[in-house]
Amino acid sequence: MRYSALALLRGALSGGRSWQPAWRSPEPKAAYDVLIVGGGGHGLASAYYLARNHGVRNVAVLERGWLGGGNTGRNTTIVRSNYLYPESARLYDFSLRLYEGLSRELNFNLMLSQRGLIDLAHSRHDLDSMARWVNSMHMNGIDARLLSREEIAARLPLLDVSPEARYPVLGGFEQPRGGTARHDAVAWGYARAADALGVDIVQNCEVTGFLRGGHGEVTGVTTSRGTIRAQRIGLAAAGHSSVLAALAGFRLPVTSYALQAMVSEPVKPALDAVVLSPGTGAYLSQSDKGEMVIGAGLDLFASYAQRGSFAVLQGVVAATLALFPSFSRLKLLRQWAGNVDVVHDSSPIIGPTPVPELFINCGWGTGGFKAIPAGGWTLAHVLATGRSHPLAEPFQLERFHSGRLIDEAAAAGIAH
Ligand SMILES: Cc1cc2nc3c(=O)[nH]c(=O)nc-3n(C[C@H](O)[C@H](O)[C@H](O)COP(=O)(O)OP(=O)(O)OC[C@H]3O[C@@H](n4cnc5c(N)ncnc54)[C@H](O)[C@@H]3O)c2cc1C
Repeated sequence: MRYSALALLRGALSGGRSWQPAWRSPEPKAAYDVLIVGGGGHGLASAYYLARNHGVRNVAVLERGWLGGGNTGRNTTIVRSNYLYPESARLYDFSLRLYEGLSRELNFNLMLSQRGLIDLAHSRHDLDSMARWVNSMHMNGIDARLLSREEIAARLPLLDVSPEARYPVLGGFEQPRGGTARHDAVAWGYARAADALGVDIVQNCEVTGFLRGGHGEVTGVTTSRGTIRAQRIGLAAAGHSSVLAALAGFRLPVTSYALQAMVSEPVKPALDAVVLSPGTGAYLSQSDKGEMVIGAGLDLFASYAQRGSFAVLQGVVAATLALFPSFSRLKLLRQWAGNVDVVHDSSPIIGPTPVPELFINCGWGTGGFKAIPAGGWTLAHVLATGRSHPLAEPFQLERFHSGRLIDEAAAAGIAH
């Protein structure tokens, strides 16, 4: 079913009876060409691009809960490509460019809003490192511009830019093409488009182990809904990647942490950009519904709890109110956390694993929502061809043997 103004009218006139489910809920078959473990954005995008780019349609996505119930439905929806190193810039800008055409391609409104993303400088050191950052973005062909304190004050009238502010604002920089997209819609849009190409999406199906062949290769999985065989398997399980790797018999350089966020009650439009304060760890934007979406940094200890610690919550609220004093009158509606898969160089892992026919997409840590199109595109490529996509070449697991790390953590300060 194609969504359009006409379909909306037909739906209204039929009292809602003409709408079809966006995707089927099939029983899993006994065997597939490719299985994808994890029904978040990366897993669903991988399945879609397998079918669309490579014609591989005998594919199933196995999700232990509901689609997007992991980090994809828990993030603060920021999209950007303001990275320092050329390898990351290429990958993330490819993703942003795919996002720019994705609503039309998927026939699903992802509510992409490229309202601009502003990083605040609170010290001379911040200003210096942002100048370097902007220069390197220009060298990588990505839009960016340094902003003076006055320009920031004009863009963000509610920000405290007074000299006596707790965190004085000396300037900053903007990626004008940065912004937000609706996170659930990205999962649902890819799911619907993959289903239309024949992919089976199987929810409430937890992978509990791997079947192995005579050469050690994976030949299928055991799940809470029975055994399913496959020629190739892709893992896209974010914070649970190490758990699945352990089931398959290898270790990943990944640590899982809780990362939390919160939203306020909705108010009238008051913030027309995504704002990050790398120095304090606070960042925020206003959703289309009017809620202030406020994000925090990682908990300081590893955990699989989807809660987030109070100390981090307190710190981010204090920093947000120091930056935007008038927000002290907002009521917080909800707070939550997800389990993010952090790699020591803050860069993803996309490609083969030590187990033959088993491939992985993980390590996006605190910033993989914006990478969903690129992560899906490149995992699909290696699953279909057995060769890594050129964009994913630098991001192999093998870099932890060769030492060719791509350390973006220092560049981003806060890694969203
Ligand atoms: C609070 C917060 C804020 C964030 N903000 C941003 C942001 O603003 N911008 C940005 O780019 N990124 C952000 N991120 C990071 C981003 O959300 C993630 O990097 C991204 O969503 C990862 O997508 P995924 O598909 O890999 O993982 P997920 O969406 O987590 O999907 C993995 C899926 O695997 C499933 N799974 C796990 N184990 C099994 C199993 N054994 N069997 C079957 N299924 C299994 C899980 O249930 C889950 O649904 C944020 C994350 C959080 C938590």
